[in-house]
Amino acid sequence: MVKITIDHEKCEGANCAECVDVCPMEVLIIDGEIIAISDVDECSLCEVCMDVCPNGAVTVEED
Ligand code: SF4
Ligand code: SF4
Repeated sequence: MVKITIDHEKCEGANCAECVDVCPMEVLIIDGEIIAISDVDECSLCEVCMDVCPNGAVTVEED
């Protein structure tokens, strides 16, 4: 199981969306103004979203 956490206090949401752009599995999506998780089971734990996030707002971990 994978657990993805987005800290919406730190996240710039749709104004940034860099994690959405880089996610190869399209797990992270834009939902209105915020970043949402579509299907956590598709996550490959590549951690690219964590690497690209300028604010350290997204965390992906094995649960
Ligand atoms: S770890 Fe990789 S596959 Fe999972 S949400 Fe982040 S970018 Fe997408
Ligand atoms: S890269 Fe970080 S700040 Fe930007 S939308 Fe994703 S989680 Fe939010």
